[in-house]
Amino acid sequence: IGTLYIVATPIGNLADITQRAIQVLKDVSMIAAEDTRNTGRLLSHYEIGTRCVAVHDHNEQQKIAWLEQQVLDGNDIALVSDAGTPLINDPGYHLVNAFRAKGYPVVPLPGACAAIAALSVAGLPTDRFLYEGFLPAKTKARQERLDELRQETRTVVYYESPHRILDSLADIVSCLGEGRQVVLARELTKTFETIKSLPVAELLAWVKADPNQQKGEMVLIVAGYQKDSELLPVDALDTLKLLQTELP
Ligand code: SAM
Repeated sequence: IGTLYIVATPIGNLADITQRAIQVLKDVSMIAAEDTRNTGRLLSHYEIGTRCVAVHDHNEQQKIAWLEQQVLDGNDIALVSDAGTPLINDPGYHLVNAFRAKGYPVVPLPGACAAIAALSVAGLPTDRFLYEGFLPAKTKARQERLDELRQETRTVVYYESPHRILDSLADIVSCLGEGRQVVLARELTKTFETIKSLPVAELLAWVKADPNQQKGEMVLIVAGYQKDSELLPVDALDTLKLLQTELP
């Protein structure tokens, strides 16, 4: 029986891949890739000639039976996504779940992950943290999601899209208070890598003032709620919000 390898690939800098990952990508019978054109660039950089098949969110469930047959025939498969670790806001869950249920071998090849890279330089507590993926695109749903976590004491990690960065930061100001520390980790491992840590109202002003900071790939790390902080407590923030709507 073959093995399904879950292979992390770079999140920008092509050198951020392990030697073992390169060897496995060379040795397997086929690479199941989220986007074969995108993975093609990585493969040609490392002169890897392995065949690629597309396995993405829209066909993953249909492809599972076929991939199962491949490992039953003794073929090894590598799953990769466009960047970073597969299954972390990327396809692969249904495939791994199905293989695990049948007892087929699934082996991780660890490597880059934007959330972990951002946490490692944010300077916020990492002993406990919460990974929340992307915030909802619509304002009301986004604010509700933020409100649910306003008293969360763990550091919270969000992936963010450049189209929504200003709206999301504004919602963090209104839902969590302007003093909440937030770290923007942008374009990690790439030429314009920027890591900026500020109270969220200041971060919003800083991002607004520089259109370059509104571009590229980004992670937001939000400091946990601190009970004994000098910041206004959550109920005081509620009162303030109410007052603001009443005052002229
Ligand atoms: N599987 C990937 C991982 O392990 O990080 C995440 C894939 S998710 C579809 C893409 C999102 O990850 C981007 O929108 C951004 O929020 C984050 N991301 C990916 N690469 C990044 C980078 N180089 N710098 C900052 N954020 C990045």
